[in-house]
Amino acid sequence: MDRQNSVDETGNGSARFLPLKGNSFRFRCHRHISCFTKCCANLNLVLTPYDILRVKGRLGMSSDEFLERYTETRIDPQSRFPKIVLKMDRDNGNTCPFVNPKGCTIYEDRPGACRIYPLGRGVMKVDQEKEARRRFFIVEEGHCLGFEEDKEWTVEEWMADQGLAQYNAMNDRWSEIMTSSKRLGPEAHIPHKLQMFAMASYNLDRFREFLFKSRFFELFELPQNQKDRLEKDDLALLEFSVEWLKFSLFGEKTIDLRKALGHHKQYQS
Ligand code: SF4
Ligand code: SF4
Repeated sequence: MDRQNSVDETGNGSARFLPLKGNSFRFRCHRHISCFTKCCANLNLVLTPYDILRVKGRLGMSSDEFLERYTETRIDPQSRFPKIVLKMDRDNGNTCPFVNPKGCTIYEDRPGACRIYPLGRGVMKVDQEKEARRRFFIVEEGHCLGFEEDKEWTVEEWMADQGLAQYNAMNDRWSEIMTSSKRLGPEAHIPHKLQMFAMASYNLDRFREFLFKSRFFELFELPQNQKDRLEKDDLALLEFSVEWLKFSLFGEKTIDLRKALGHHKQYQS
């Protein structure tokens, strides 16, 4: 089955995607339900950059270690960009590597797709429009008995209960890159741009190295307090990575070049 992030609402397998009637739905998940943890197996769980930041931080791992041990890269033919998917534990019934009989071992930092279930949230940013378009729907998985429980939620109540505000905010920023209709420029430059996309999105340790060990700050004008934050704070770094990707992939004027440098052809072709 597919458990997709908030950027992409498509899926297949045993899940059904149903319209949300009104603004509420009936659902309850708890450890005494007979399907407990059945949903944590056979997943196509796409991780967003913010999911990776949270889980790798929880595990105290470097970006390289986390990506190598727990993820696979998939090239989605419908998207220009590589996606990162959580590797299921094939030696253990194709279960999520973070599930045990008591539940999710990374619960406080579980990915956004695990939090938002049984809702799905489609986000589409149209370049000319200021606000992204959002749409909620129900994702009904055949084995899930939570729909038979007697608890009613509004969408807003569910979002608050599952701690989704920060996930949605960070994923929405990133979705502006993923769903942009802007062109990546000449064919010859696309492989390099896709590498940059993968590093700045998914491997924050290497992105930080790229900023601090290259001539980046000679070329780009950033206040010292922002540089200090980028050095220490992964969240600030992730926010900056979106601005950088808009600049380097699409040529948007999101970052100031130092005035002495009259051009920025290196990153905008
Ligand atoms: S109720 Fe649904 S979400 Fe909860 S444990 Fe069962 S299958 Fe998973
Ligand atoms: S991260 Fe946690 S909630 Fe999500 S599939 Fe794995 S065990 Fe289940």
